[in-house]
Amino acid sequence: MPHLPPSTLGILGGGQLGRMLALEARRGGYRVVVFTNEPAGCPAGQVSDVEINAEYDDTEALARFLDLVDVVTAEFENIPDACLQAVEAVKPLRPGRKAIYTTQHREREKLFLRDQGIACAPFRIVEDLPGLEAAVAELGRPCVIKTAAFGYDGKGQAKVTQDTDLAAAWQPFAGHHAVVEQWVPFELEVSVVGARDVHGGTAVHGCVENIHEHHILDISISPARVAPEIAAQALALWKAVAEGLNYVGTMAVEMFVTKDGRVLVNEIAPRPHNSGHYTIDACRTSQFGQQLRAVCGLPLGDASQHTPAVMLNLLGDVWPAELTHPDWSPVLSHPRAKLHLYGKQQAKWRRKMGHVTVLGDSIEQALADARQIQASLPPRKQP
Ligand code: AMP
Repeated sequence: MPHLPPSTLGILGGGQLGRMLALEARRGGYRVVVFTNEPAGCPAGQVSDVEINAEYDDTEALARFLDLVDVVTAEFENIPDACLQAVEAVKPLRPGRKAIYTTQHREREKLFLRDQGIACAPFRIVEDLPGLEAAVAELGRPCVIKTAAFGYDGKGQAKVTQDTDLAAAWQPFAGHHAVVEQWVPFELEVSVVGARDVHGGTAVHGCVENIHEHHILDISISPARVAPEIAAQALALWKAVAEGLNYVGTMAVEMFVTKDGRVLVNEIAPRPHNSGHYTIDACRTSQFGQQLRAVCGLPLGDASQHTPAVMLNLLGDVWPAELTHPDWSPVLSHPRAKLHLYGKQQAKWRRKMGHVTVLGDSIEQALADARQIQASLPPRKQP
């Protein structure tokens, strides 16, 4: 049975992805309750009916949350499994616990990809220094060590090059599981964001090209400047992941495109994704609209893109000081640039504070305009 408005949507997590989902839900007449371990007034809480601020293992607070909601989703994946199990025991959780549990941990994610026969970089699971030595001998240099749990935006990673001392490189990972991956000399990075509904139907937004700075997404270009065969491979990989996880909701898959025309899965995000923010302004249904529809058991919307778009991330770096806002006039004076701010109180260095979507008649034009806007917002010096 679909959850129709004015049902109550529960969101685990209080960040910008939850905020953009909550805005979509409230526009459609839903009530929204956010459960977060962030302090009161978090980005999603600001635009919700109720905000519950508690740790994810606070069973009493979780029971209060579950009493208020009809259906639950998550806006980030690093949620303790006991919490996911407690939610799933009493209310529909979409995506389900299995999809979140698998993708919140790099080792489980990689083993899932291997089991499903989904293309990814060759890897080994490593528990200690001898294991690292064996893995590096087999995979060759360069390669990259990634912590199995709770890594994001390049955090918890170390590159192993020709002259890296393995004992020293292993130090930060000692005592934990890690994934060692062959280095992929990729041509470019792409992602696919799409949604799968409760009946297994899918709607995918298309292939997006991503440019990272300091391991953090800087610019997304949509549609990606890739050959149709590459885009088709990327969409097929997204579908294989969604089917393999029996996924319900919006999901993103980040991928590498190699110089010889192969596409490899890098990471799965069991939620909307930064590289899908352009869909709000450039697609007929946004990634958040699709998430709401899928999670509530409604039919998916038309995911197609109506205008070429470039998304520019706004990190805390471009705030003149933590509490002083940039001069937005170069963005606001552009007739086809859309400013999105997440309501975060303090503009910390490298914190995602907002984004700008620039629409254009062509990708080239949108990209040139986005670069011009970026140049008008020079970053302050790293503290
Ligand atoms: P991740 O946190 O796994 O998404 O990695 C962050 C970024 O590091 C990616 O977007 C890539 O730019 C780079 N990276 C990660 N893994 C590899 C790899 N195996 N080969 C080359 N670059 C990588």
